[in-house]
Amino acid sequence: MRTLTVEVVKNYINGRWVESKTKETRDVFNPATGELIAKTPMSTAEETIKAIEAAKTAFRRWRATPVFTRVRYLNRIRDAFEDNFEDLCRILTTEQGKAIDEARGEYRRTIENLECATAIPSLQMGYNTEDIAAGIDEMVIKQPLGVFFCVAPFNFPGMVPTWFWPFAVGVGNTYIVKPSEQVPLSQVRQFEIIDEVGLPKGVLNMVHGGPEAVNALLESPDTIGMSFVGSTHVGKLLYKKAGEHGKRAQVQGGAKNFLTVMPDADLERSVPAIITSFYGCTGQRCLAGGVLLAVGDIYEPLKEAIIEASKAYTVGNGLEEGVQMGPLASKRGMDTVLSYIKKGVDEGAELLLDGRGIKVEGHPNGYFVGPTVFDKVKPSMAIAQEEIFGPVISIVHVKDLDEAIDIIHANRYGNASSVFTSSGGTAREYQYRVKAGNIGINIGVAAPIATFPFSGMKDSFLGDLHGQGRDAVDFFTENKVVITRWF
Ligand code: NAD
Repeated sequence: MRTLTVEVVKNYINGRWVESKTKETRDVFNPATGELIAKTPMSTAEETIKAIEAAKTAFRRWRATPVFTRVRYLNRIRDAFEDNFEDLCRILTTEQGKAIDEARGEYRRTIENLECATAIPSLQMGYNTEDIAAGIDEMVIKQPLGVFFCVAPFNFPGMVPTWFWPFAVGVGNTYIVKPSEQVPLSQVRQFEIIDEVGLPKGVLNMVHGGPEAVNALLESPDTIGMSFVGSTHVGKLLYKKAGEHGKRAQVQGGAKNFLTVMPDADLERSVPAIITSFYGCTGQRCLAGGVLLAVGDIYEPLKEAIIEASKAYTVGNGLEEGVQMGPLASKRGMDTVLSYIKKGVDEGAELLLDGRGIKVEGHPNGYFVGPTVFDKVKPSMAIAQEEIFGPVISIVHVKDLDEAIDIIHANRYGNASSVFTSSGGTAREYQYRVKAGNIGINIGVAAPIATFPFSGMKDSFLGDLHGQGRDAVDFFTENKVVITRWF
């Protein structure tokens, strides 16, 4: 593995590594040890504009590059990611904290997005109709538009940018990645690999930073559109600004996901999926379980099984093989989770398992919170309403499916929801009625693969076209209609 030294990470603009001139940086910590491992520059508007100019210039040649040539670069990047797989995973765990197997899962999905985008020669095909009138034909061409960018969150620093840029670049646009300032190193490593592959300069750029860089991207007359993934609060601000500046925008926001367990659920097979849904990635997933709705008399046996499985869940440094749950990604994240646990107690929920104060041997400064289970949670409580982004299960006992769906629909978010049942009829009703973008039937984390849109509804998504698959191809292209008549 590459040694991680404490340095201010560089931007990647026009095929070159460039030091930011800003004096403002953010510290990056290894969340398992509390060690300082890097610094992120809060790049200035001026530096960001340099990246936009490079991407704009590169677009002229790149859009005229044959589609199979463009895709061949994606294939080479895909192969290079595969060759550096373990290194990439270890860097991801070192800066983000998640268990190494979860990092491997994330990079598998990252590579799948590249693989999916190599189908662009087919995905970008338009369509035509002959003889719309005598001797006149009509066709649609899907053309690239110019410079796009993404603003990424801290929880999937390896994967999220690849929901977008392989599709954007594959169809002939040029691109700028703005990683989360909390976890810049995964993208730095990816760009080192991309640099070695030798993508033409300016096609793919990276600018580190925060609001100043993002505002420069949104305000520039030379950018076309933004893909944002992060909190709903920030997403809404940026969506509004994108509208004001005439940009295309897709905003994937926060979540509070409800898992419903019916009395006829197969508990033995459901509980492992439920547990992983809440504790996977230490609860820092937009698809993470948020509330467990126990329907009717499944409540007691479900509660018992959840407690037993929670106690057996192993917490530690994500780099150690076999550890199931790493630390929270930041001290701030840990403090937020701790404050929610306190709020749950204050609001009168019963704390069955308390993850506060967990000790991980050899890691006294890590941001650890252990599996936490609340019972007797009321839907009106903050722990049942708001995104905690930590390993906390809130159990709500409901009488039937209607009550469960009413609770789900009263929540502002609609990212994902799952039902556990052995009845096809119940499953069908759930998928039909529940207003959430990603539905799991006996699946705890309904994470769409690269060929499907990463959906989301209500306050979890703003826009119309989503990341990944055909939606991404439509987002990054413009349909041009051509009507022809030859004399
Ligand atoms: P965040 O909103 O704090 O930050 C996301 C990005 O926005 C970062 O790159 C950050 O630098 C930038 N940013 C923050 N404030 C800004 C501002 N005022 N102006 C311009 N840019 C700004 O989100 P986060 O804490 O990094 O990520 C966690 C959130 O992301 C959770 O709510 C989670 O549910 C959500 N998320 C959603 C999905 C999805 O697909 N729906 C996927 C992953 C994460």
